[in-house]
Amino acid sequence: MTMLHRRTFILGGVATAGTLALSGRSATAAAPFPFKLGVASGEPAASSVVLWTRLAPTPLNADGHGGMPDADVTVDWQIAADQRFGSIVTSGTVTARYADAHSVHVVAGGLAPDAEYYYRFRAQGHLSAVGRTRTAPAPGTAGRELTMAFASCSHYEEGYFTAYRRMAEDRPDLILHLGDYIYEYGPKTGRVREHLGGEIVSLADYRRRHAQYKTDPDLQAAHAVAPWLVVPDDHEVENNYATLVRADSTPALTAAQWTARRTAAYRAYYENMPLRPAQAPVGTGIPLHRRVPWGTLATFHMLDTRQFRDDQACGDGWKVCAAADTAGRTMTGAAQESWLLDGLARQDATWDILGQQVFFAQQLRSGGTANMDAWDGYRASRKRIQQGWRDRNVRNPLVLTGDIHSAWAGDLKADYASPSSAVVGTELVCTSISSGGNGTADTVVPYQATNPHLRFFSDRRGYTRTTISRTQVRADFRAVPVVTEHGSAATTIASFVILDGRPGLQEL
Ligand code: FE
Ligand code: CA
Repeated sequence: MTMLHRRTFILGGVATAGTLALSGRSATAAAPFPFKLGVASGEPAASSVVLWTRLAPTPLNADGHGGMPDADVTVDWQIAADQRFGSIVTSGTVTARYADAHSVHVVAGGLAPDAEYYYRFRAQGHLSAVGRTRTAPAPGTAGRELTMAFASCSHYEEGYFTAYRRMAEDRPDLILHLGDYIYEYGPKTGRVREHLGGEIVSLADYRRRHAQYKTDPDLQAAHAVAPWLVVPDDHEVENNYATLVRADSTPALTAAQWTARRTAAYRAYYENMPLRPAQAPVGTGIPLHRRVPWGTLATFHMLDTRQFRDDQACGDGWKVCAAADTAGRTMTGAAQESWLLDGLARQDATWDILGQQVFFAQQLRSGGTANMDAWDGYRASRKRIQQGWRDRNVRNPLVLTGDIHSAWAGDLKADYASPSSAVVGTELVCTSISSGGNGTADTVVPYQATNPHLRFFSDRRGYTRTTISRTQVRADFRAVPVVTEHGSAATTIASFVILDGRPGLQEL
């Protein structure tokens, strides 16, 4: 016993029984600490939540296996009502498979609705850090006020993840990540830290890149504080790809090599995220768009705007492009569009929240140019969805967005060309966690005269915190002044409310 680490797992605090129950594993107590990638939870439902971890005692190994042997390993897990695990609610054992890079996705069921829990893992004689998670309200009930933070674009080299740390300190109930969780590029010198390896292409590369990011203590704190709902954007695979069309030409890849690369990227994404097994990759794809109910308070429609989109019009970039207006162009694919509109028609909750990646409202810049990678490059697709929610009398459509490394808030318009047309919804765009470096203090909305529906802009790094009740959503835009040094404080630089039954932003 004296050789055991003091964090040795003691089930229910009964030392003798616990030790006996776990006998045979104490021999591995001298194994190196395997939980260096932290713990996470996600996909909260009224009675279940996903618990995640991945064993990796030496996370940065080039083979992507984090120093784990070619063998499957038993992992015990526990959920308790209290942080000290005095009152165990449920527990179990799962196999961390070599084939899955020793990641585990435990669907822990039998939980009470609208309740807070703590969880931890044990493997190879070591206990993991403790994570906090929670369940959604029971169907038909609104539950408590929901504090939800959302974020995107965490480039490891371009800044420290201070914004993740500050988000964790808010102790939100739920966190959404809207993409660019990792970046695929090789290292560049002169930044605050460096990617390992070159541009990532193989499964081993993607696994190691996820591991490198997951070693960040600020990111680990954000995962450990609340359940997450995640959707990837482009950089989890490669910059600005569209379905199976690449935007980049380096590294040179055959069609088969590119498909294999995308498949590897999706596999590593699943392995490293607290997703349900229903989101595990199938063939060369990954079924990510899904609905997550939060009682009668909110429904989260998590969208995939990469896997089924048409290629960017006019060769991508900021363009004046008639082809972007072609009828039938799609950002979501037909099946996902129908699925979204069917779900919006249900009117299950006060707030219908679209968790998605790229800028939704029209945004015209110099000479009428627009971003062909965003919904402006898929105007017919945007129009069908906006008209679709109007036709279905959706009470409170709220679009959440990442991708552009700056914070925005705006009204969604029935006709963007007509300032007097109806406000039909609201968009909140979070800035990046670190991508783009420190940014500036600039808060002048670019080209506001041509985009009067866009109401707020900030070039700082940070995240957006929302407080969701039956009567309103309050949005606080949180910003840190620098990400090239550790330790910045986060401040609220702007706040808005959205009132039930009244689309659009109200200034505070
Ligand atoms: Fe990004
Ligand atoms: Ca992006």
